Amino acid sequence: MTSKPIAFWHLLVLFWSLLLVLATARADETPQPGMVAAAHPLATEAGVEMLESGGSAIDAAIAIQAVLTLVEPQSSGIGGGAFLLHYANQPARVQAYDGRETAPSAIKPDHFLTESGTPMDFLDAVPGGQAVGVPGTLRMLELAHEEHGALPWEALFQPAIRLAEQGFEVTPRLADMLRIDLPLDAFEPMAGYFFPAGEPISAGVTLTNPDLADTLTRIANRGAEAFYEGPIAESIVATVQGNGGKLTREDMAGYQALEREPVCRSIADHSICGMPLPSSGGMTVLQILSLLEMASAEVEATTRLTRRHLLLEASRLGFADRNEYLGDADFVDVPVETLLSNDYLAERAALISPTQSLGTASPGLANPESAMSSAKRINHSTSHFSVLDARGNAVSMTSSIEMPFGSRLMVGGFMLNNQLTDFRFDPEAADGRPHPNRVQPGKRPLSSMSPVIALDTDDQPRLIIGSPGGTRIIGYVAQRVADVLMAGEELQTAIEAGSVINRNGVTELEAETPAEALRAGLEALGHEIEVGPLTSGLHGVERLPDGVIHGGADPRREGTAVKVR
Ligand code: GLU
Repeated sequence: MTSKPIAFWHLLVLFWSLLLVLATARADETPQPGMVAAAHPLATEAGVEMLESGGSAIDAAIAIQAVLTLVEPQSSGIGGGAFLLHYANQPARVQAYDGRETAPSAIKPDHFLTESGTPMDFLDAVPGGQAVGVPGTLRMLELAHEEHGALPWEALFQPAIRLAEQGFEVTPRLADMLRIDLPLDAFEPMAGYFFPAGEPISAGVTLTNPDLADTLTRIANRGAEAFYEGPIAESIVATVQGNGGKLTREDMAGYQALEREPVCRSIADHSICGMPLPSSGGMTVLQILSLLEMASAEVEATTRLTRRHLLLEASRLGFADRNEYLGDADFVDVPVETLLSNDYLAERAALISPTQSLGTASPGLANPESAMSSAKRINHSTSHFSVLDARGNAVSMTSSIEMPFGSRLMVGGFMLNNQLTDFRFDPEAADGRPHPNRVQPGKRPLSSMSPVIALDTDDQPRLIIGSPGGTRIIGYVAQRVADVLMAGEELQTAIEAGSVINRNGVTELEAETPAEALRAGLEALGHEIEVGPLTSGLHGVERLPDGVIHGGADPRREGTAVKVR
Protein backbone atom coordinates (compact mmCIF):
# COMPACT_ATOMS: atom_id res chain seq x y z
CA MET A 1 0.00 0.00 0.00
CA THR A 2 2.85 2.40 0.84
CA SER A 3 4.63 1.59 -2.39
CA LYS A 4 2.51 3.99 -4.47
CA PRO A 5 3.67 7.29 -2.86
CA ILE A 6 7.30 6.03 -2.95
CA ALA A 7 6.98 5.32 -6.65
CA PHE A 8 5.50 8.78 -7.11
CA TRP A 9 8.42 10.45 -5.27
CA HIS A 10 10.86 8.31 -7.17
CA LEU A 11 9.33 9.45 -10.38
CA LEU A 12 9.39 13.08 -9.28
CA VAL A 13 13.05 12.89 -8.26
CA LEU A 14 13.85 11.12 -11.50
CA PHE A 15 12.04 13.81 -13.43
CA TRP A 16 13.91 16.62 -11.66
CA SER A 17 17.25 14.84 -12.09
CA LEU A 18 16.51 14.45 -15.75
CA LEU A 19 15.72 18.13 -16.06
CA LEU A 20 18.95 18.95 -14.23
CA VAL A 21 20.98 16.69 -16.51
CA LEU A 22 19.38 18.25 -19.57
CA ALA A 23 19.99 21.75 -18.22
CA THR A 24 23.64 20.91 -17.50
CA ALA A 25 24.07 19.43 -20.95
CA ARG A 26 22.59 22.59 -22.43
CA ALA A 27 24.78 24.76 -20.20
CA ASP A 28 27.74 22.81 -21.47
CA GLU A 29 26.80 23.84 -24.97
CA THR A 30 25.93 27.34 -23.87
CA PRO A 31 25.19 29.59 -26.79
CA GLN A 32 27.77 32.37 -27.04
CA PRO A 33 30.07 33.84 -26.02
CA GLY A 34 32.19 32.81 -28.96
CA MET A 35 33.99 30.42 -31.26
CA VAL A 36 37.19 30.42 -33.28
CA ALA A 37 37.93 27.99 -36.12
CA ALA A 38 41.28 28.34 -37.88
CA ALA A 39 43.81 26.26 -39.81
CA HIS A 40 46.45 25.94 -37.07
CA PRO A 41 45.96 25.30 -33.33
CA LEU A 42 48.27 28.19 -32.38
CA ALA A 43 46.29 30.56 -34.60
CA THR A 44 43.04 29.40 -33.02
CA GLU A 45 44.59 29.90 -29.57
CA ALA A 46 45.61 33.46 -30.42
CA GLY A 47 42.04 34.21 -31.50
CA VAL A 48 40.68 32.66 -28.31
CA GLU A 49 43.15 34.71 -26.23
CA MET A 50 41.81 37.92 -27.78
CA LEU A 51 38.16 36.96 -27.28
CA GLU A 52 38.88 36.00 -23.68
CA SER A 53 40.40 39.43 -23.06
CA GLY A 54 37.23 41.09 -24.29
CA GLY A 55 38.31 41.44 -27.89
CA SER A 56 36.00 41.62 -30.88
CA ALA A 57 35.85 39.21 -33.81
CA ILE A 58 38.04 41.67 -35.74
CA ASP A 59 40.62 41.74 -32.92
CA ALA A 60 40.72 37.95 -32.98
CA ALA A 61 41.07 37.96 -36.78
CA ILE A 62 44.14 40.19 -36.61
CA ALA A 63 45.81 38.03 -33.95
CA ILE A 64 44.98 34.89 -35.94
CA GLN A 65 46.41 36.33 -39.16
CA ALA A 66 49.61 37.46 -37.44
CA VAL A 67 50.15 33.94 -36.05
CA LEU A 68 49.30 32.28 -39.38
CA THR A 69 52.00 34.41 -41.04
CA LEU A 70 54.47 32.65 -38.73
CA VAL A 71 53.16 29.11 -38.35
CA GLU A 72 51.49 28.52 -41.74
CA PRO A 73 53.91 30.48 -43.95
CA GLN A 74 53.04 28.34 -46.98
CA SER A 75 49.47 29.63 -47.03
CA SER A 76 48.88 33.23 -46.07
CA GLY A 77 50.40 36.21 -44.34
CA ILE A 78 51.04 39.89 -44.26
CA GLY A 79 52.87 39.56 -47.59
CA GLY A 80 49.62 38.57 -49.30
CA GLY A 81 46.00 39.56 -49.71
CA ALA A 82 42.65 38.65 -48.18
CA PHE A 83 38.91 39.15 -48.18
CA LEU A 84 37.00 39.62 -44.95
CA LEU A 85 33.25 39.54 -44.42
CA HIS A 86 32.14 41.10 -41.17
CA TYR A 87 28.79 40.76 -39.46
CA ALA A 88 28.07 43.56 -37.02
CA ASN A 89 25.38 42.79 -34.50
CA GLN A 90 24.33 46.35 -33.63
CA PRO A 91 22.80 47.24 -36.01
CA ALA A 92 22.76 43.97 -37.94
CA ARG A 93 24.67 44.32 -41.20
CA VAL A 94 27.25 42.50 -43.27
CA GLN A 95 30.27 44.39 -44.60
CA ALA A 96 32.86 43.25 -47.12
CA TYR A 97 36.49 44.28 -46.76
CA ASP A 98 38.77 43.94 -49.76
CA GLY A 99 42.49 43.49 -49.12
CA ARG A 100 43.24 41.93 -52.49
CA GLU A 101 46.67 42.61 -54.00
CA THR A 102 46.90 45.20 -56.77
CA ALA A 103 49.06 45.07 -59.90
CA PRO A 104 52.00 47.51 -59.90
CA SER A 105 51.43 50.74 -61.86
CA ALA A 106 54.19 49.93 -64.35
CA ILE A 107 52.72 46.57 -65.40
CA LYS A 108 51.92 45.99 -69.10
CA PRO A 109 49.11 43.89 -70.63
CA ASP A 110 51.66 41.46 -72.07
CA HIS A 111 53.27 40.88 -68.65
CA PHE A 112 52.66 37.13 -68.67
CA LEU A 113 53.35 36.52 -72.37
CA THR A 114 56.56 35.01 -73.70
CA GLU A 115 58.63 36.77 -76.36
CA SER A 116 56.75 34.88 -79.01
CA GLY A 117 53.46 36.22 -77.64
CA THR A 118 52.16 33.00 -76.12
CA PRO A 119 51.10 32.76 -72.46
CA MET A 120 53.95 31.86 -70.09
CA ASP A 121 53.97 28.50 -68.42
CA PHE A 122 52.17 28.99 -65.10
CA LEU A 123 54.99 27.59 -62.98
CA ASP A 124 57.52 29.86 -64.71
CA ALA A 125 55.50 32.89 -63.69
CA VAL A 126 55.25 32.01 -59.99
CA PRO A 127 58.77 32.32 -58.51
CA GLY A 128 60.59 35.64 -58.22
CA GLY A 129 59.28 39.18 -58.43
CA GLN A 130 57.15 39.15 -61.55
CA ALA A 131 53.90 37.98 -59.93
CA VAL A 132 54.15 39.90 -56.67
CA GLY A 133 51.19 42.21 -56.18
CA VAL A 134 51.01 44.97 -53.57
CA PRO A 135 50.10 43.10 -50.35
CA GLY A 136 46.72 44.17 -48.99
CA THR A 137 46.08 42.12 -45.85
CA LEU A 138 47.44 44.56 -43.26
CA ARG A 139 45.74 47.70 -44.58
CA MET A 140 42.49 45.76 -44.77
CA LEU A 141 42.80 44.57 -41.18
CA GLU A 142 43.66 48.07 -40.04
CA LEU A 143 40.60 49.48 -41.82
CA ALA A 144 38.36 46.88 -40.18
CA HIS A 145 40.00 47.48 -36.79
CA GLU A 146 39.36 51.24 -36.98
CA GLU A 147 35.66 50.44 -37.22
CA HIS A 148 35.27 47.31 -35.12
CA GLY A 149 38.34 46.89 -32.90
CA ALA A 150 37.82 46.69 -29.14
CA LEU A 151 41.41 46.00 -28.05
CA PRO A 152 44.38 48.24 -28.82
CA TRP A 153 46.09 47.41 -32.14
CA GLU A 154 49.45 46.62 -30.55
CA ALA A 155 47.93 43.98 -28.24
CA LEU A 156 46.79 41.95 -31.25
CA PHE A 157 50.33 41.15 -32.39
CA GLN A 158 51.68 39.98 -29.04
CA PRO A 159 50.88 36.24 -29.42
CA ALA A 160 52.64 36.16 -32.82
CA ILE A 161 55.63 38.16 -31.60
CA ARG A 162 55.94 35.87 -28.58
CA LEU A 163 55.82 32.75 -30.76
CA ALA A 164 58.26 34.16 -33.31
CA GLU A 165 60.75 34.91 -30.54
CA GLN A 166 60.31 31.73 -28.52
CA GLY A 167 59.74 29.40 -31.45
CA PHE A 168 56.92 27.15 -32.59
CA GLU A 169 56.86 23.49 -33.47
CA VAL A 170 56.94 22.76 -37.21
CA THR A 171 53.80 20.78 -38.09
CA PRO A 172 53.71 17.74 -40.40
CA ARG A 173 51.87 19.80 -42.98
CA LEU A 174 54.48 22.55 -43.13
CA ALA A 175 57.24 19.92 -43.28
CA ASP A 176 55.40 18.07 -46.09
CA MET A 177 54.89 21.28 -48.05
CA LEU A 178 58.64 21.85 -48.03
CA ARG A 179 58.98 18.49 -49.77
CA ILE A 180 56.49 19.10 -52.61
CA ASP A 181 57.68 18.86 -56.14
CA LEU A 182 58.57 22.54 -56.62
CA PRO A 183 61.98 24.25 -56.42
CA LEU A 184 61.45 25.95 -53.07
CA ASP A 185 65.11 26.49 -52.17
CA ALA A 186 66.01 28.72 -55.10
CA PHE A 187 65.94 32.04 -53.24
CA GLU A 188 67.57 33.37 -50.10
CA PRO A 189 66.64 33.98 -47.35
CA MET A 190 63.85 31.42 -47.78
CA ALA A 191 66.36 28.65 -48.49
CA GLY A 192 68.38 29.32 -45.34
CA TYR A 193 65.28 29.56 -43.16
CA PHE A 194 63.43 26.45 -44.35
CA PHE A 195 66.38 24.42 -45.71
CA PRO A 196 69.19 24.87 -43.21
CA ALA A 197 72.16 22.67 -44.26
CA GLY A 198 70.38 22.14 -47.59
CA GLU A 199 67.63 19.88 -46.22
CA PRO A 200 64.01 20.81 -45.57
CA ILE A 201 63.25 21.13 -41.87
CA SER A 202 61.31 18.28 -40.30
CA ALA A 203 58.12 18.14 -38.32
CA GLY A 204 58.66 18.58 -34.60
CA VAL A 205 61.59 20.98 -34.95
CA THR A 206 61.27 24.27 -33.04
CA LEU A 207 61.57 27.21 -35.39
CA THR A 208 62.08 30.82 -34.33
CA ASN A 209 61.68 33.79 -36.65
CA PRO A 210 63.44 36.86 -35.17
CA ASP A 211 63.01 38.83 -38.42
CA LEU A 212 59.25 38.40 -38.25
CA ALA A 213 59.23 39.28 -34.55
CA ASP A 214 60.97 42.53 -35.49
CA THR A 215 58.59 43.24 -38.41
CA LEU A 216 55.50 42.58 -36.29
CA THR A 217 56.84 44.72 -33.45
CA ARG A 218 57.21 47.67 -35.84
CA ILE A 219 53.69 47.10 -37.18
CA ALA A 220 52.32 46.73 -33.65
CA ASN A 221 53.94 50.02 -32.60
CA ARG A 222 53.33 52.14 -35.69
CA GLY A 223 50.37 50.56 -37.45
CA ALA A 224 50.17 49.31 -41.04
CA GLU A 225 52.07 52.40 -42.13
CA ALA A 226 55.24 50.77 -40.81
CA PHE A 227 54.74 48.14 -43.52
CA TYR A 228 53.69 50.33 -46.45
CA GLU A 229 56.29 53.07 -45.99
CA GLY A 230 59.83 53.10 -44.63
CA PRO A 231 62.36 50.28 -44.26
CA ILE A 232 59.98 47.30 -44.61
CA ALA A 233 58.42 48.71 -47.79
CA GLU A 234 61.86 49.52 -49.12
CA SER A 235 63.10 45.95 -48.57
CA ILE A 236 59.99 44.57 -50.27
CA VAL A 237 60.47 46.84 -53.29
CA ALA A 238 64.21 46.11 -53.55
CA THR A 239 63.62 42.36 -53.32
CA VAL A 240 60.84 42.35 -55.91
CA GLN A 241 62.71 44.60 -58.34
CA GLY A 242 65.90 42.62 -57.84
CA ASN A 243 64.01 39.54 -58.98
CA GLY A 244 62.34 40.83 -62.12
CA GLY A 245 59.26 42.53 -60.65
CA LYS A 246 57.80 46.00 -61.17
CA LEU A 247 56.69 46.98 -57.68
CA THR A 248 57.62 50.54 -56.58
CA ARG A 249 57.59 52.47 -53.31
CA GLU A 250 54.70 54.53 -54.68
CA ASP A 251 52.74 51.33 -55.32
CA MET A 252 53.29 50.29 -51.71
CA ALA A 253 52.49 53.68 -50.18
CA GLY A 254 49.42 54.10 -52.37
CA TYR A 255 47.74 50.78 -51.57
CA GLN A 256 44.16 51.16 -50.40
CA ALA A 257 42.02 48.53 -48.74
CA LEU A 258 38.37 48.98 -49.66
CA GLU A 259 35.08 48.47 -47.98
CA ARG A 260 32.59 47.13 -50.50
CA GLU A 261 28.94 46.13 -50.54
CA PRO A 262 28.71 42.38 -50.09
CA VAL A 263 26.66 40.36 -52.59
CA CYS A 264 23.68 38.79 -50.83
CA ARG A 265 20.75 36.67 -52.01
CA SER A 266 17.82 35.14 -50.29
CA ILE A 267 18.22 31.37 -50.62
CA ALA A 268 16.64 28.57 -48.59
CA ASP A 269 15.08 31.02 -46.09
CA HIS A 270 18.44 32.65 -45.37
CA SER A 271 20.19 35.76 -46.57
CA ILE A 272 23.48 34.40 -47.87
CA CYS A 273 26.26 36.96 -48.29
CA GLY A 274 29.62 36.69 -50.02
CA MET A 275 32.46 38.85 -51.33
CA PRO A 276 31.73 40.99 -54.37
CA LEU A 277 34.23 41.35 -57.24
CA PRO A 278 37.20 41.16 -57.52
CA SER A 279 36.40 37.83 -55.92
CA SER A 280 34.31 35.63 -58.14
CA GLY A 281 33.60 33.61 -54.99
CA GLY A 282 30.53 35.45 -53.75
CA MET A 283 28.74 35.74 -57.08
CA THR A 284 29.48 32.20 -58.17
CA VAL A 285 28.56 30.58 -54.85
CA LEU A 286 25.29 32.55 -54.89
CA GLN A 287 24.57 31.58 -58.50
CA ILE A 288 25.23 27.90 -57.75
CA LEU A 289 23.06 27.84 -54.62
CA SER A 290 20.21 29.71 -56.34
CA LEU A 291 20.33 27.39 -59.35
CA LEU A 292 20.41 24.38 -57.03
CA GLU A 293 17.40 25.65 -55.08
CA MET A 294 15.46 26.37 -58.27
CA ALA A 295 16.35 23.05 -59.92
CA SER A 296 15.60 21.10 -56.73
CA ALA A 297 12.11 22.62 -56.57
CA GLU A 298 11.34 20.91 -59.89
CA VAL A 299 12.29 17.41 -58.80
CA GLU A 300 11.99 15.18 -55.83
CA ALA A 301 15.67 15.44 -55.01
CA THR A 302 15.53 12.88 -52.30
CA THR A 303 18.58 10.77 -53.08
CA ARG A 304 22.12 11.92 -52.44
CA LEU A 305 22.97 11.10 -56.06
CA THR A 306 20.27 13.44 -57.40
CA ARG A 307 21.23 16.18 -54.95
CA ARG A 308 24.89 15.93 -55.92
CA HIS A 309 24.05 15.81 -59.65
CA LEU A 310 21.99 19.01 -59.37
CA LEU A 311 24.77 20.72 -57.40
CA LEU A 312 27.35 19.74 -60.03
CA GLU A 313 25.13 20.96 -62.88
CA ALA A 314 24.51 24.25 -61.09
CA SER A 315 28.26 24.51 -60.67
CA ARG A 316 28.89 24.01 -64.40
CA LEU A 317 26.55 26.90 -65.16
CA GLY A 318 28.08 29.12 -62.48
CA PHE A 319 31.62 28.48 -63.72
CA ALA A 320 30.63 29.09 -67.37
CA ASP A 321 29.62 32.65 -66.40
CA ARG A 322 32.49 33.12 -63.98
CA ASN A 323 35.13 32.23 -66.51
CA GLU A 324 33.62 34.44 -69.21
CA TYR A 325 32.43 37.62 -67.54
CA LEU A 326 34.13 38.21 -64.21
CA GLY A 327 37.03 40.50 -63.45
CA ASP A 328 37.78 43.53 -61.26
CA ALA A 329 34.63 45.63 -61.72
CA ASP A 330 36.58 48.81 -60.93
CA PHE A 331 38.30 48.29 -64.30
CA VAL A 332 35.90 46.39 -66.53
CA ASP A 333 32.13 46.24 -67.00
CA VAL A 334 30.62 43.18 -65.41
CA PRO A 335 26.84 42.55 -65.63
CA VAL A 336 26.64 41.77 -61.91
CA GLU A 337 22.95 42.55 -61.45
CA THR A 338 21.86 40.56 -64.48
CA LEU A 339 23.94 37.55 -63.46
CA LEU A 340 22.29 37.53 -60.03
CA SER A 341 18.76 38.42 -61.14
CA ASN A 342 15.83 36.07 -60.56
CA ASP A 343 14.79 36.03 -64.22
CA TYR A 344 18.25 35.21 -65.47
CA LEU A 345 18.84 32.52 -62.85
CA ALA A 346 15.42 30.95 -63.54
CA GLU A 347 16.35 30.77 -67.24
CA ARG A 348 19.65 29.12 -66.38
CA ALA A 349 18.10 26.72 -63.87
CA ALA A 350 15.73 25.51 -66.60
CA LEU A 351 18.80 24.09 -68.41
CA ILE A 352 19.35 21.61 -65.57
CA SER A 353 17.88 18.14 -66.08
CA PRO A 354 17.69 15.63 -63.26
CA THR A 355 18.27 12.76 -65.68
CA GLN A 356 21.06 13.98 -67.98
CA SER A 357 24.15 16.12 -67.52
CA LEU A 358 24.26 19.19 -69.73
CA GLY A 359 27.97 18.58 -70.34
CA THR A 360 30.05 21.70 -70.84
CA ALA A 361 27.82 24.71 -70.15
CA SER A 362 27.97 27.88 -72.23
CA PRO A 363 27.96 31.25 -70.53
CA GLY A 364 24.46 32.69 -70.43
CA LEU A 365 24.81 36.12 -72.01
CA ALA A 366 26.26 37.25 -75.36
CA ASN A 367 29.69 36.12 -76.63
CA PRO A 368 29.33 32.50 -75.71
CA GLU A 369 32.38 30.86 -77.19
CA SER A 370 35.55 31.61 -75.26
CA ALA A 371 35.24 29.65 -72.02
CA MET A 372 38.51 29.83 -70.17
CA SER A 373 39.29 26.60 -68.46
CA SER A 374 40.07 26.58 -64.75
CA ALA A 375 43.55 25.43 -63.87
CA LYS A 376 43.95 21.74 -63.15
CA ARG A 377 46.47 22.10 -60.37
CA ILE A 378 45.57 21.23 -56.83
CA ASN A 379 46.12 24.18 -54.52
CA HIS A 380 47.69 23.62 -51.15
CA SER A 381 48.03 27.14 -49.84
CA THR A 382 45.58 29.81 -48.62
CA SER A 383 43.81 29.75 -45.26
CA HIS A 384 40.30 30.36 -44.02
CA PHE A 385 39.15 31.19 -40.50
CA SER A 386 35.81 31.98 -38.91
CA VAL A 387 35.15 33.82 -35.65
CA LEU A 388 32.04 34.59 -33.60
CA ASP A 389 32.56 36.94 -30.65
CA ALA A 390 30.76 37.55 -27.35
CA ARG A 391 28.78 40.46 -28.77
CA GLY A 392 27.50 38.32 -31.62
CA ASN A 393 29.77 39.89 -34.26
CA ALA A 394 31.36 37.56 -36.78
CA VAL A 395 34.28 37.38 -39.19
CA SER A 396 34.68 35.10 -42.19
CA MET A 397 38.12 35.68 -43.69
CA THR A 398 40.05 33.94 -46.45
CA SER A 399 43.66 34.93 -46.82
CA SER A 400 46.27 33.94 -49.38
CA ILE A 401 49.76 34.29 -50.79
CA GLU A 402 48.51 32.18 -53.76
CA MET A 403 50.86 29.23 -54.41
CA PRO A 404 52.60 27.38 -51.54
CA PHE A 405 55.16 29.88 -50.15
CA GLY A 406 53.94 32.42 -52.74
CA SER A 407 56.70 33.93 -54.87
CA ARG A 408 59.35 32.21 -52.68
CA LEU A 409 60.67 35.70 -51.89
CA MET A 410 61.02 36.26 -48.17
CA VAL A 411 61.36 39.73 -46.64
CA GLY A 412 61.34 40.62 -42.96
CA GLY A 413 60.52 37.02 -41.99
CA PHE A 414 57.38 36.68 -44.15
CA MET A 415 56.65 35.38 -47.65
CA LEU A 416 55.64 37.63 -50.54
CA ASN A 417 52.66 36.58 -52.67
CA ASN A 418 52.51 35.54 -56.32
CA GLN A 419 48.90 36.65 -56.60
CA LEU A 420 49.29 38.30 -60.02
CA THR A 421 49.22 34.83 -61.57
CA ASP A 422 45.48 34.90 -60.83
CA PHE A 423 45.15 37.27 -63.80
CA ARG A 424 44.47 35.70 -67.15
CA PHE A 425 47.85 35.53 -68.88
CA ASP A 426 46.50 36.02 -72.40
CA PRO A 427 44.85 39.46 -72.42
CA GLU A 428 42.48 38.51 -75.24
CA ALA A 429 39.83 35.85 -75.54
CA ALA A 430 39.87 33.54 -78.59
CA ASP A 431 37.75 35.98 -80.62
CA GLY A 432 40.08 38.93 -79.92
CA ARG A 433 37.93 40.57 -77.25
CA PRO A 434 39.88 41.79 -74.24
CA HIS A 435 39.26 39.44 -71.33
CA PRO A 436 37.78 41.01 -68.17
CA ASN A 437 40.52 39.42 -66.04
CA ARG A 438 43.42 40.69 -68.15
CA VAL A 439 46.42 42.38 -66.51
CA GLN A 440 46.04 46.14 -66.00
CA PRO A 441 47.99 48.55 -63.75
CA GLY A 442 46.43 48.99 -60.30
CA LYS A 443 43.88 46.24 -60.97
CA ARG A 444 43.08 43.34 -58.63
CA PRO A 445 43.26 39.83 -60.08
CA LEU A 446 40.06 37.78 -60.07
CA SER A 447 39.90 35.55 -57.01
CA SER A 448 37.87 32.49 -56.04
CA MET A 449 38.07 33.09 -52.32
CA SER A 450 34.58 32.67 -50.92
CA PRO A 451 34.12 33.73 -47.32
CA VAL A 452 30.39 33.39 -46.62
CA ILE A 453 28.09 34.57 -43.85
CA ALA A 454 24.50 33.31 -43.93
CA LEU A 455 21.91 35.09 -41.81
CA ASP A 456 18.68 33.59 -40.54
CA THR A 457 15.30 35.32 -40.61
CA ASP A 458 16.19 37.18 -37.37
CA ASP A 459 19.27 38.59 -39.11
CA GLN A 460 21.51 36.51 -36.84
CA PRO A 461 24.51 34.71 -38.32
CA ARG A 462 23.50 31.09 -38.95
CA LEU A 463 26.63 29.93 -40.80
CA ILE A 464 30.11 31.47 -41.13
CA ILE A 465 32.34 29.49 -43.47
CA GLY A 466 34.99 29.48 -46.19
CA SER A 467 37.90 27.42 -47.54
CA PRO A 468 41.18 27.50 -49.42
CA GLY A 469 41.54 25.46 -52.62
CA GLY A 470 42.03 27.71 -55.67
CA THR A 471 39.04 27.73 -58.02
CA ARG A 472 37.71 24.64 -56.20
CA ILE A 473 37.04 26.88 -53.19
CA ILE A 474 33.73 27.83 -54.78
CA GLY A 475 32.57 24.21 -54.92
CA TYR A 476 33.88 23.32 -51.46
CA VAL A 477 31.94 26.20 -49.93
CA ALA A 478 28.75 25.88 -52.01
CA GLN A 479 28.47 22.17 -51.11
CA ARG A 480 28.71 22.85 -47.36
CA VAL A 481 26.31 25.78 -47.39
CA ALA A 482 23.84 23.59 -49.31
CA ASP A 483 24.31 20.64 -46.98
CA VAL A 484 23.90 22.67 -43.80
CA LEU A 485 21.17 25.11 -44.85
CA MET A 486 19.22 23.04 -47.37
CA ALA A 487 19.79 19.43 -46.26
CA GLY A 488 19.96 20.19 -42.52
CA GLU A 489 23.31 18.49 -41.94
CA GLU A 490 25.47 19.30 -38.96
CA LEU A 491 28.44 21.52 -39.88
CA GLN A 492 31.26 19.11 -38.95
CA THR A 493 29.52 16.24 -40.77
CA ALA A 494 29.13 18.41 -43.85
CA ILE A 495 32.79 19.45 -43.74
CA GLU A 496 33.97 15.86 -43.43
CA ALA A 497 31.75 14.52 -46.22
CA GLY A 498 33.62 13.85 -49.47
CA SER A 499 33.74 16.77 -51.88
CA VAL A 500 32.28 16.77 -55.38
CA ILE A 501 33.54 19.47 -57.73
CA ASN A 502 32.67 20.64 -61.22
CA ARG A 503 34.26 23.69 -62.78
CA ASN A 504 32.44 23.26 -66.09
CA GLY A 505 34.41 20.24 -67.20
CA VAL A 506 35.06 16.89 -65.58
CA THR A 507 33.35 16.02 -62.32
CA GLU A 508 35.90 15.45 -59.55
CA LEU A 509 35.10 13.12 -56.67
CA GLU A 510 37.19 13.09 -53.52
CA ALA A 511 39.17 9.86 -53.24
CA GLU A 512 38.76 7.58 -50.24
CA THR A 513 35.47 9.14 -49.21
CA PRO A 514 31.85 8.09 -49.72
CA ALA A 515 31.78 10.54 -52.67
CA GLU A 516 33.51 7.82 -54.71
CA ALA A 517 30.40 5.69 -54.42
CA LEU A 518 28.56 8.22 -56.61
CA ARG A 519 30.77 7.37 -59.57
CA ALA A 520 28.58 4.85 -61.40
CA GLY A 521 25.42 6.87 -60.82
CA LEU A 522 26.97 10.11 -62.05
CA GLU A 523 28.52 8.37 -65.05
CA ALA A 524 25.08 7.05 -65.97
CA LEU A 525 23.86 10.67 -65.92
CA GLY A 526 26.62 11.63 -68.36
CA HIS A 527 29.36 12.97 -66.09
CA GLU A 528 32.98 12.36 -66.98
CA ILE A 529 34.57 11.43 -63.64
CA GLU A 530 37.98 11.93 -62.10
CA VAL A 531 38.75 10.66 -58.61
CA GLY A 532 41.55 12.24 -56.60
CA PRO A 533 42.51 14.13 -53.45
CA LEU A 534 40.54 17.33 -52.90
CA THR A 535 42.31 19.17 -50.13
CA SER A 536 39.89 21.74 -48.84
CA GLY A 537 40.48 23.59 -45.57
CA LEU A 538 36.98 24.47 -44.46
CA HIS A 539 36.67 26.26 -41.13
CA GLY A 540 33.31 27.41 -39.94
CA VAL A 541 30.97 28.32 -37.14
CA GLU A 542 27.28 27.53 -37.09
CA ARG A 543 24.73 29.01 -34.79
CA LEU A 544 21.60 26.91 -34.46
CA PRO A 545 18.18 28.54 -34.22
CA ASP A 546 18.19 27.95 -30.42
CA GLY A 547 21.47 29.85 -30.09
CA VAL A 548 23.74 26.83 -29.58
CA ILE A 549 26.99 27.24 -31.50
CA HIS A 550 29.20 24.61 -33.08
CA GLY A 551 32.58 24.98 -34.71
CA GLY A 552 33.79 23.00 -37.69
CA ALA A 553 37.42 22.24 -38.60
CA ASP A 554 38.56 20.42 -41.70
CA PRO A 555 40.35 17.13 -40.90
CA ARG A 556 42.16 17.47 -44.25
CA ARG A 557 44.28 20.19 -42.63
CA GLU A 558 45.60 20.81 -39.13
CA GLY A 559 43.09 23.28 -37.79
CA THR A 560 40.91 23.38 -34.71
CA ALA A 561 37.64 24.90 -33.62
CA VAL A 562 37.52 26.12 -30.02
CA LYS A 563 34.61 27.51 -28.08
CA VAL A 564 35.19 30.52 -25.84
CA ARG A 565 33.12 30.80 -22.70
N1 GLU B 1 44.83 32.71 -55.27
C1 GLU B 1 43.61 32.00 -55.15
C2 GLU B 1 42.43 32.95 -55.22
O1 GLU B 1 42.53 34.06 -54.79
C3 GLU B 1 43.55 31.19 -53.93
C4 GLU B 1 44.57 30.11 -53.99
C5 GLU B 1 44.33 28.91 -53.15
O2 GLU B 1 43.26 28.75 -52.61
O3 GLU B 1 45.23 28.12 -53.00
O4 GLU B 1 41.42 32.58 -55.71
